[in-house]
Amino acid sequence: MRVLLHACCGPCLLEPFDALSAEHEVTVLYANPNIHPAEEYRHRRDTLMAYAASNGIDVIEEPYDPVTWMRAVAGLERDQAERCRACFRLRLGIAARMAASLGMDAVATTLTVSPYQDQAAVAEAGATMAAEAGVAYLGGDFRDRYADATRRSRELGMYRQNYCGCMLSDIEAQREREERREARRSKREGR
Ligand code: SF4
Repeated sequence: MRVLLHACCGPCLLEPFDALSAEHEVTVLYANPNIHPAEEYRHRRDTLMAYAASNGIDVIEEPYDPVTWMRAVAGLERDQAERCRACFRLRLGIAARMAASLGMDAVATTLTVSPYQDQAAVAEAGATMAAEAGVAYLGGDFRDRYADATRRSRELGMYRQNYCGCMLSDIEAQREREERREARRSKREGR
């Protein structure tokens, strides 16, 4: 099959690409209007592009348009689960429609390698958007390869971000790190 693989970043590309390209003709799509700020978007994109270039992988980049993400999640900012569902539908919708317009058979996403994403929501968004576009959705679950992806990306010296992508996830991740630091401090001091 000819497959368009939506990729969120370079480290997450490694394992799903290897698995899917063993059986299919895979082109990668970098379509991530959720990433904030623009400098971070470019950093993740350039990391992915450098790996793709050195491994002969074809990549299409969807022009960066963060306003489409803001519109997709408007009103859901404080509801993380629903916000992420809308974000998945936005990105996988872009991928599914592009796969259809290029005459490809199926769409897939590297989000399936992450233990940090709601995999049921990713699968639901992928299946729904692919059906609407008239292509197949190659779901898969590559979480058992996440440790390998982490090891390989470190060995390759790839940039590894510490938040999901949007401004809200950056704030949430900073808060969680601070809570963990505080918990460790309290434990040390016997509080
Ligand atoms: S946390 Fe991640 S998946 Fe959820 S809305 Fe933000 S960028 Fe999208």
